[in-house]
Amino acid sequence: MIERTFSIVKPDAVQRNLQGAILKMIQDAGLKIVAMKMIHMTKEQAEGFYAVHKDRPFFDSLVAYMCSGPCVVSVLEGENAIAKYREVMGATNPAEAAEGTIRKTFALDIEKNSCHGSDAPETAAQEIPYFFSQLEIVG
Ligand code: UDP
Repeated sequence: MIERTFSIVKPDAVQRNLQGAILKMIQDAGLKIVAMKMIHMTKEQAEGFYAVHKDRPFFDSLVAYMCSGPCVVSVLEGENAIAKYREVMGATNPAEAAEGTIRKTFALDIEKNSCHGSDAPETAAQEIPYFFSQLEIVG
């Protein structure tokens, strides 16, 4: 099944100039980039994006980190894109991520873990239009 998923190369990775390396890992997995731009999230955008975590103890720190610098947001398309990209990213905590994954290779810690990917079709359907208009998605 051809799906779309939403991706963020997070501020810790962009700050270390790793966006190219991370996008290459995504493309090498067979995922196609059908939309992409750089943004510097506002506090309101980050709070809205991570609203599901608003009662978690790490929420304020997560929001501050996501606003700490630019990131690269993109829409990825491919066969089972949602699960496939989660596999390429690796576990949330890089200490638990499998060898060869983005997070094992580049993440700094459980918060500054270099990438985001939608975790389900319903999440992708909310996250893609949160940052992209229909006109910005090609292919
Ligand atoms: N996060 C954190 N501390 C935690 C768990 C998560 O700072 O104990 C951050 C981390 O950046 C993670 C994001 O919150 O990527 C969203 O958490 P989620 O559990 O949805 O993980 P993901 O889907 O990104 O793997």
